[in-house]
Amino acid sequence: MSLLDDQRSVLFVHAHPDDETISTGALIAECVARGSRVFLLTCSRGERGEVVAGPLTALAGTIELARERELELERATGILGVHSKFWLGEPPARAAGLSPRRYRDSGMVWIRPGLAGPADDAAADALSVAPLAEVAGDIAALIVRLRPALVVSYDDGGGYGHPDHVRAHEAALAASRSTGTPFAEVLETPADGAEWFDLPHRLAVVTDALRAHASQLTVHGTDIVHSGGQREAIVTAAGLRLVPTH
Ligand SMILES: [Zn+2]
Repeated sequence: MSLLDDQRSVLFVHAHPDDETISTGALIAECVARGSRVFLLTCSRGERGEVVAGPLTALAGTIELARERELELERATGILGVHSKFWLGEPPARAAGLSPRRYRDSGMVWIRPGLAGPADDAAADALSVAPLAEVAGDIAALIVRLRPALVVSYDDGGGYGHPDHVRAHEAALAASRSTGTPFAEVLETPADGAEWFDLPHRLAVVTDALRAHASQLTVHGTDIVHSGGQREAIVTAAGLRLVPTH
């Protein structure tokens, strides 16, 4: 019995536009192909992301980058087959009685290659600075509305340490626990207790969806090159491990 079989709906929780495709695009496409309704909750607009050198360079550091990344996410999720997507802080992903808000991208610094840490200039309204209870409450409100059979988000290291990814993990897990919903963390390598998915047949759809995130990366064959210059192979495999929620 696979974790992705017979799931009527799965909610993916990600920190920034592009994370859904880079780390879980193949998983999302696989869920859709297996008949699940896939929902995506994105926590911030990724407005502090660097921008690929080229026609979009001028957007770096401007509010227009948030709008561009909204459009990129719209295209990518359409390609992956996401049923509906939501922004954290905006109904229905906002706790009852609270005014809508945005959680801003916290930014990050590289501690060493492959491991990110907090930037020292995160804004007061940044995701990683917001109270965990507020973030978790907003995610819980969406879970109560959608009643997904499974919630999927990062592991406790946020994949590579980005403070927004870590926060998304903590809050998604807390919300899953408060609502009694199964939660699975995404792993980049096979591990004990995890189910491993090799999904090379999803490469084409993931590649198409990656091209939608043109402000952040470029596709070169079966690799992507990030705005900062890091090159990596397109990911078509991932592990999922259930974390106890009750
Ligand atoms: Zn991210």
